[in-house]
Amino acid sequence: MSQTFDLIVIGAGPGGYIAAIRAAQLGMKVGCVEQWRNPRGEAALGGTCLNVGCIPSKALLASSEMFESMQHDAADHGISVKGASVDVAKMMSRKDGIVGKMTKGIEFLFRKNKITWLKGHGRLTGTRDGRFLVEVSGEGDAVSCDAAQVILATGSKARHLPSIPVDNQLICDNEGALAIGEVPKRLGVIGAGVIGLELGSVWRRLGSEVTILEALPEFLAAADEAVRKEAWKQFTKQGLAIHLGARIGEVTRSGKGLSIAWTDSAGAAQTLECDRLIVSVGRVPNTDGLGLDAVGLATDARGFIPVDEGCRTAVPGIWAVGDVVRGPMLAHKAEDEGVMVAELIAGQKPHIDYNCIPWVIYTSPEIAWVGQTEQQLKAAGRSFKSGQFPFAANGRALGTGASAGFVRVLACDTTDEVLGVHIVASNASDLIAEAVLAMEFKASAEDIGRICHPHPSLSEVMREAALAATDNRALNG
Ligand code: NAD
Repeated sequence: MSQTFDLIVIGAGPGGYIAAIRAAQLGMKVGCVEQWRNPRGEAALGGTCLNVGCIPSKALLASSEMFESMQHDAADHGISVKGASVDVAKMMSRKDGIVGKMTKGIEFLFRKNKITWLKGHGRLTGTRDGRFLVEVSGEGDAVSCDAAQVILATGSKARHLPSIPVDNQLICDNEGALAIGEVPKRLGVIGAGVIGLELGSVWRRLGSEVTILEALPEFLAAADEAVRKEAWKQFTKQGLAIHLGARIGEVTRSGKGLSIAWTDSAGAAQTLECDRLIVSVGRVPNTDGLGLDAVGLATDARGFIPVDEGCRTAVPGIWAVGDVVRGPMLAHKAEDEGVMVAELIAGQKPHIDYNCIPWVIYTSPEIAWVGQTEQQLKAAGRSFKSGQFPFAANGRALGTGASAGFVRVLACDTTDEVLGVHIVASNASDLIAEAVLAMEFKASAEDIGRICHPHPSLSEVMREAALAATDNRALNG
């Protein structure tokens, strides 16, 4: 049986499912291919983000933060909590429930927008009469579909190290690390990037002794210098043992755990004994069995599908979005590309300013930024001024007991245009949205400083940092 569509989207993660919805809103007949199966063997929409990424990790983040604040912060509020303990199985089942609600939510959105979910693996098989052919296999007989346009949104998968086989039991990638059945006494993490720091923090809060081994000599090299220093101070104070410039050697089983031979930055041989290991050394684009060659496409040397600024591949009518193309591997970047491509297909003229895509690291405190860092501005020879304001001087932050961190605004020396905003704070992921809006509208630091902000709120720190960047005139600092 063959099915005909205006648009076939391959992949139903944030890039693909959002592209499918926007295209359906614009009147297209859309089929979306997705092969994901959850641990119960059921087909599921949502991709990595909803099933084994952003959403489940935020559920565990909240549970582990609640446990930590009961043990360490409640007493400051005059609340005594005795005998707090962790039921990991219940915590995991709460997380699984949230994932289930979210993935079912997308099924509802597909029905509402009359999008056909093509369950199985999608593969390009060629063209016929100017239309693209996609074979969907996995559920019963393979089905052949065709469409005038195709969006490839197949995402990415965890990068593994050749000598460290991931079994998602003892040695985990992001998937296994979100399903560990009991709190490991000693947890090793390879890679101090977003996933390593985020999941290392979750398990530390639940009681693990966490050691992170990072290959680079610098901590969080992509972040602004001031943020890097503050984050290092906060994370090491919390008890994360982070070793930079580490070279990983042999990993062997020892008893019920693992023994990791590594060399420190001074060249000395070291051994890390741990009960579990998380390998979080980046992700690679996923193009397995996609049939790119059948339509004359190929990946670049790093495995990405080459696209232009409008996510057009070399074959007109085939587009690619999200982790499978250049740019940061972030769900919100994939979503925006999905919307852009659907609107381009519909003849509209959307545009993404990649400089205005925010970055977030969900540690505690969180880290978020948008635009340029101090290092990038200096390297570009751009003259700038900066303003910084601490949460320790904000009444709301003191009231909630989360007063670590600051907002830092970088603005053009001559025009006062905001060039970058960098936040370390408990709610940085929400606070950064104001800075993104400001930068999209080419606001000046003074513009942010002149806008009324609610009191008492954490957002006042954004205003104070903007005022600090505008002639050093913070009001409360
Ligand atoms: P990452 O690129 O953030 O960090 C990987 C780290 O591992 C780097 O610091 C790298 O230097 C280090 N590393 C690489 N090889 C190593 C080795 N052999 N030994 C020791 N260290 C080594 O990658 P990640 O943390 O795995 O995350 C993957 C992707 O997922 C990222 O691109 C990220 O943007 C995305 N993601 C984003 C979020 C978010 O937005 N909060 C959350 C999760 C994942």
